[in-house]
Amino acid sequence: MSFKSLGLSEPLLKAIQKKGYETPSPIQAKAIPPVLEGKDVLASAQTGTGKTAGFTLPLLHLLSNNTAQRHRPIRALILTPTRELAAQVFANVKEYSEFLNIRSTVIFGGVNQKPQVNKLSQGVDVLVATPGRLIDLENQGVLSLKHVEIFVLDEADRMLDMGFLRDIERVMKLMPNKRQNLMFSATFSKDIKKLAYSILNNPTQVEA
Ligand code: AMP
Repeated sequence: MSFKSLGLSEPLLKAIQKKGYETPSPIQAKAIPPVLEGKDVLASAQTGTGKTAGFTLPLLHLLSNNTAQRHRPIRALILTPTRELAAQVFANVKEYSEFLNIRSTVIFGGVNQKPQVNKLSQGVDVLVATPGRLIDLENQGVLSLKHVEIFVLDEADRMLDMGFLRDIERVMKLMPNKRQNLMFSATFSKDIKKLAYSILNNPTQVEA
């Protein structure tokens, strides 16, 4: 099994090579093909399994098939529970998109919003965000989620543990109904299954 055989484009393969990855991890080998096919995916994966690349690589592949958009609306939203995770996921997005014409940024609370607003105003294709700051900036009219094509809910179980269910529901209402959804969680409680049912459309289920 190689990254090339998964069908990822040359600019992504180049970035993967630069990172020094030789073969896809199990979760990557299982999650990347259905995401590339445009399917919704429900993935069971712990941190450390390579799950971030598992959703970031195919997401960038799909977006880069069509980058001629002049106004650069947000086309992919990656929601994470904490600012640390948001920063980490964003660092991955940056690295993997180095050879692509894709812009990305990250927003989270607890810091001045101004630099984040400035970045957003330049137009980004991929937004990594924590729920509070995302909703806050949407309320202020600083960003719109009306053109989101791919939605990723990372560490869904931690999201629920931290009490973000209401926020997730609010975010869902801000996006178009027709979109691709990916949900990652380390555990699968009844509440997580319920959330998955409400977000995902006929998902492919994969396990690390
Ligand atoms: P994650 O589970 O996404 O937090 O990734 C855990 C660590 O594994 C990170 O340091 C990644 O850079 C690294 N990693 C991800 N995919 C691979 C791979 N295919 N081969 C080697 N390392 C990887």
